[in-house]
Amino acid sequence: MLAFVLNVHVLFPMFGELTLHLGQAVSLLALLLFGVRAALIAAVAAGLGLWWSAGAWIMPLLFVLETAVIAALVARGRAMVPAAVLFWLLLGLPLNYLMATLWLHLPADVLHISVIKQAINGLLNASLAAGAFQLLVNTVMKSPAHDRRQTSLLRQTFAMSVTLVVLPALLIALFLVNRAVDALGQQVERRLQQQAQGYALLTEMYLDRHQTAIRLLVERFPGGPASSLNQALDQVQQAHPGFLTMVVTDATGDVVHGAPATFYDRVADAPAAERSVADRDWFRVPRETGDVFLSDGFIGRGFGSDPIVAVSAPLVADDGRFLGVVEGSLNLPRFADLEAFPNSDDFMLIVDRAGQRIHAPDALEVPILAPVELPPAADRRLVDIAQVELGGDRFFVADASTIQGWTVYALTRTRVLAEPVERFVVAFGLGLLGLIALGGWVARVFATGVTRPLATLSEQILDPELERIRLPADQRMSPEIVQVCDALDRARQLSLRFQHELEKEVVSKTAELRALNRKLGRLAIGDPLTGLLNRRGFEIKAGAMLDLVRRESLGLVVAMIDIDRFKAINDAHGHAAGDECLRKLAEQLREAFQRRGDLIARIGGEEFAVLAVTDAPEAQFARLEQFRSRIEQQRVELGELMLTFTVSIGAVASIAEADSEIDELLDAADQALYASKRAGRNRLTEGSDGWPARS
Ligand code: GH3
Ligand code: MG
Ligand code: MG
Repeated sequence: MLAFVLNVHVLFPMFGELTLHLGQAVSLLALLLFGVRAALIAAVAAGLGLWWSAGAWIMPLLFVLETAVIAALVARGRAMVPAAVLFWLLLGLPLNYLMATLWLHLPADVLHISVIKQAINGLLNASLAAGAFQLLVNTVMKSPAHDRRQTSLLRQTFAMSVTLVVLPALLIALFLVNRAVDALGQQVERRLQQQAQGYALLTEMYLDRHQTAIRLLVERFPGGPASSLNQALDQVQQAHPGFLTMVVTDATGDVVHGAPATFYDRVADAPAAERSVADRDWFRVPRETGDVFLSDGFIGRGFGSDPIVAVSAPLVADDGRFLGVVEGSLNLPRFADLEAFPNSDDFMLIVDRAGQRIHAPDALEVPILAPVELPPAADRRLVDIAQVELGGDRFFVADASTIQGWTVYALTRTRVLAEPVERFVVAFGLGLLGLIALGGWVARVFATGVTRPLATLSEQILDPELERIRLPADQRMSPEIVQVCDALDRARQLSLRFQHELEKEVVSKTAELRALNRKLGRLAIGDPLTGLLNRRGFEIKAGAMLDLVRRESLGLVVAMIDIDRFKAINDAHGHAAGDECLRKLAEQLREAFQRRGDLIARIGGEEFAVLAVTDAPEAQFARLEQFRSRIEQQRVELGELMLTFTVSIGAVASIAEADSEIDELLDAADQALYASKRAGRNRLTEGSDGWPARS
């Protein structure tokens, strides 16, 4: 709607009827804000608006084409203004020339002006749209919901500089030149009016002079045709070269004398009937009115066939009798003598009361005595001065009337104005292109002054090898950038140091964690006091060994070993002494049971377990018995103190086929151990789990 309304109501006058229209700026802005569809709709609206106000039906089509091409270029990543420049140089100008010559039949003098004006208008609209978009995006549309497309700094600067600097400057230039052209037009108009009045006065005086000459003649000779009149006629004719011929008639209309002599000789030789001019207006009207007569232009007949104007007056006797007529034929080509500036671009056109051409320079191509119809000024494209078309050319025109009722026109070619305007429009278009290019260059210089250091900075920040962030000395930069660079450098140093420390920390912590993990693993299955497996460790490994026993169809012996009256040792010598005894026992166990098939563990406070894979339980029982005896003899040194203790052992033998679980075997061994305790301690009790009875 805005595009339509702008093109209907808001047309800025440029030269005469040429106007700037801004509807297309709305469609190009819509392209940037809402996309192609909205832009095309607005372009149609803008075109319809211009059709409505200026009557050019082709406009909607042209606008849609312009918008579509620019949209395609913008979609390919081109900025709005360069896209418009491309469109107008490659498509817009040729198309408008074609249109102006083929359809609109624009006259030559305004053709260039009108076409170039379209291009300038197009570029203005594109610049307006680009600038308005940047302004809108940067000011009004703060809402994060709106899609704020990323526009490079270069583009933003370019659009802003073109819109805010170039456009206003050019519009002011346009405004001033428009006024200058108007002033020039008024000057031309004034000059033409003065010329028309001057020509009219000259024509009036010319006619009046010849009318007066005739009048004086008839007043001087009231006696009618006489030899003295004839003589005077000859003299007057010679004195007024404007008179091609002159004649005197008698009262009946027969020519009785003529000048010059060569002419009258021809008349005198003619038959009497042909010498009568009784039917001519220039004879009849003065006879009837008794006054001086001025005819319109006509082709003489009878005594020649020249284009003439007849001036005549009646010869009247003192008693009022009509005696005849004196007539002079004004030679039409002689009116050229009135021309003030022959062979220039300023022309004079004299038209008689009947509207026939009396005088016109050849350039106007108006045949002599042709009816002159000056068509009303069809076109005031340049300035508001009356214009006419004659002989295929166009002229500014002014007119004035003579007292005889003739009209005199002063004309000058519209070229006098069109040429300077055309030169201006071309210069203006080139200037616009130049300024746009300049704007682009300035924007590039400015934007790269910011973006290049930024790009260098971001590269350097990401480079882990680099010691310090430093902008290259050859890069132009502002203090703001230098400040950013320093701040970034400090931040990067900090972050690098922090990262370094973090790495070191991670390395040491990882090592610690690994050691801890190992320890935890050991703790889970080991006994910290003796370094033997704990009950859990024993069960895990014993389970594995049981599998092996079953796979290989072997047998095994499981024993439980418990220190006798251990509580008493603790009570008597302290917990540390008890611990020492536990360690000593573990030592002995390691020594006694170190075969590949042996497994030892501390499975309770002062309880130990032994598993020995075997196919001969007796040998194992013997080893256990041997162990018991060794403990019995062992002396544990505790400072001054010398301790002895004994162990009770319960052992069971089992075979693979018995299919017993380890805790069942431990239970059975515990039963045997209990038996040892009851039997008085310090002994080995043997049990069996599915093992064939001893013979
Ligand atoms: P018995 O001959 O019937 O086995 O008598 P005992 O005293 O050895 O048996 P009891 O079950 O009554 O006592 C076991 C004692 O072992 C009790 C506890 O204080 C001691 N004990 C258990 N674990 C430890 C240990 O890790 N260190 C020390 N020093 N003493 C422990
Ligand atoms: Mg016990
Ligand atoms: Mg005990």
